[in-house]
Amino acid sequence: MNKMKVSERAQSVPPSATIAVTARAQELKAQGVDVVNFGAGAPDFDTPDYIKDAAIKALKAGKTKYTAAGGITELRKVIAEKLQNENGLKYTPDQVIVNIGGKHSVYEAMQAVLDPGDEVILPCPYWVTYPEAIKLAGATAKIVTGDKANIYKITPQQLKKAITKKTVMLVINSPNNPGGFTYTPKELAALARVLEGTDIIVLSDEVYEKLIYGDTKFVSFASLSEDAYNRTLTLNGFSKAFSMTGWRLGYTAGPLEVIKAMGRLQSHMTSNPVTFGQYAAIAALGEPAAEAIESMRVEFERRAKYMAQRLNGVDGVVCPEPTGAFYCFPDVSSHYGRTINGTKISGSMDFAKALLEQTNVALVPGLPFGCDKNVRLSFACSIEQITKGLDRLGKWLKG
Ligand code: PMP
Repeated sequence: MNKMKVSERAQSVPPSATIAVTARAQELKAQGVDVVNFGAGAPDFDTPDYIKDAAIKALKAGKTKYTAAGGITELRKVIAEKLQNENGLKYTPDQVIVNIGGKHSVYEAMQAVLDPGDEVILPCPYWVTYPEAIKLAGATAKIVTGDKANIYKITPQQLKKAITKKTVMLVINSPNNPGGFTYTPKELAALARVLEGTDIIVLSDEVYEKLIYGDTKFVSFASLSEDAYNRTLTLNGFSKAFSMTGWRLGYTAGPLEVIKAMGRLQSHMTSNPVTFGQYAAIAALGEPAAEAIESMRVEFERRAKYMAQRLNGVDGVVCPEPTGAFYCFPDVSSHYGRTINGTKISGSMDFAKALLEQTNVALVPGLPFGCDKNVRLSFACSIEQITKGLDRLGKWLKG
């Protein structure tokens, strides 16, 4: 055999740009290079001990076998209670499925509802995985770019204009990766009103729910009205709020027929999320949750302010202060067209590559998020690292 065939499907999907940057930064670090990594999509805190202890206890108690493919009833019950108490959403445990991370929730939800020819309205900037998951479901992404003047959020007018007979889904991700912005309850309600009278499903990705800053208020899309509830798949997970990225635990709640369809797919694709992890997830949502989350949130808030302020102090860089998630998404396009230390900077890809090569600062280009004018910097790193990295960035841009 000369060369093994690779499917057209697999060939059509590029590697995740965010994972690629982190891998390169880690490689350099392993070689002893003093890298500042703003590429991370994971909180830099350890998983709280009370959650780890619950996993150890479950392991010792022999929770090491298959469970129901969509997760144990006890966990689905606890998630339903969380959604009721914190989000004002009434779901039965059957309306909740536990997935293998929020990324899997996105993929599986799209596989469960989309067909070839369907259109998905995807506000831009968007998380890199959405367009690929839409494509893998055979559907087409209809990209709607948020205006910079509106902090990159889309407006009801833009949404209305993007709807066609083929529109099946709208993706809402608030707080937003990579934008660091959060839709206000009023803004979301206005978007919800545009959808009334249609059959459009909303995929509301709420994984950054707990990471909001200043006087920002979080509201679940499904809680806006009965109409919104009936059309929404609420997606959340444990990675961001509980610093559990490696545990691979996410969940989806919504109309029973869709959750059941996801369950059928999951029963053949992956089976259950890791068993002792599910017991840890029950503990995560328990008593000490609020305190554990708040201590991380407060630190992120401090960094959000600091990073945005420092970025805005750099010549030609414009950055709205993040209201959620852990990313700054500055516009750096005023530097495009320049040659810095012998390298021509034509767009965000050149910018990120040259910055890493010349100063050992890793950030993610905006292009894979749909915004070539911007770059994404994660503040899931210490204030010292932020200071060091932005000192280097400022100096580099003067060159
Ligand atoms: N949605 C968004 C917007 C994200 O940024 C991420 C993580 N980068 C996820 C979902 C998925 O996270 P996980 O698979 O770790 O739960």
